[in-house]
Amino acid sequence: MRLFRRRPPAGLPDNWAEIVERNVAYWAILDDGERQRLGELIELIIEEKRWEAAQGFALTDEIRTVVAAQAALLILGLDFDWYRAVQAIVIHPSEVISYEPQPGPAGTMEEGPFSLLGLADHRYGPVLIAWDAAKANARHPAWGRDVVLHEFAHKLDMLDDIVDGTPPLHRPEDGPRWHEVCTREFELLQDGAGWPLRDYGATDPGEFFAVATEAFFDLPLQLEEAKPELYEVLRDFYRQDPAARVRRRAAAS
Ligand SMILES: [Zn+2]
Repeated sequence: MRLFRRRPPAGLPDNWAEIVERNVAYWAILDDGERQRLGELIELIIEEKRWEAAQGFALTDEIRTVVAAQAALLILGLDFDWYRAVQAIVIHPSEVISYEPQPGPAGTMEEGPFSLLGLADHRYGPVLIAWDAAKANARHPAWGRDVVLHEFAHKLDMLDDIVDGTPPLHRPEDGPRWHEVCTREFELLQDGAGWPLRDYGATDPGEFFAVATEAFFDLPLQLEEAKPELYEVLRDFYRQDPAARVRRRAAAS
């Protein structure tokens, strides 16, 4: 019998901060404490989650670190346990063609094929990410879209077993305001008055939350200005204030 040596699982690379600084634009506006916390979360995400590559594709330190950094940003004000439903992270080099029917506007199911940049499977299913999109999004937050933030936001939403645009809130008494603000903004987006949210958020409340999360982190000043109440409920949920970070950074330079 031949025994194969098992490769040790990947850990946090020594040059992780350099990789993040080079690839993740967000790094520039974090303070020292936030950077340290981000590093701790990146390490947990790399070590505790199962990482897989699509057939014929190989994972590198850069891929794991950049994807983990974007995912870590989302829970910088929460903690690692919020990713308890993420068991595996599957990286594809580029978009994936799916033949599964997908929910479309107005609650209809649409037939494929679809090209997907990411997918968050229900319950404990994997998160699938297209590396080329993740890499480009991490460098260009001004695009207001980020496949990693989007799919991991779905994972937070799923923690209560339903993808309805409402993750488990910190206090039950926050529920009515959350629902009131998100329902109003979802309807405005459906009516074409959603800027700076992407139109895709009008698909259903679950997509609304994921798309609003992208804008909250990537276009915080614009979201705060255009939709202050939506910004506020997201700030209270994520326990982060990205607009204040951008202002702090601007004042310092
Ligand atoms: Zn989605």
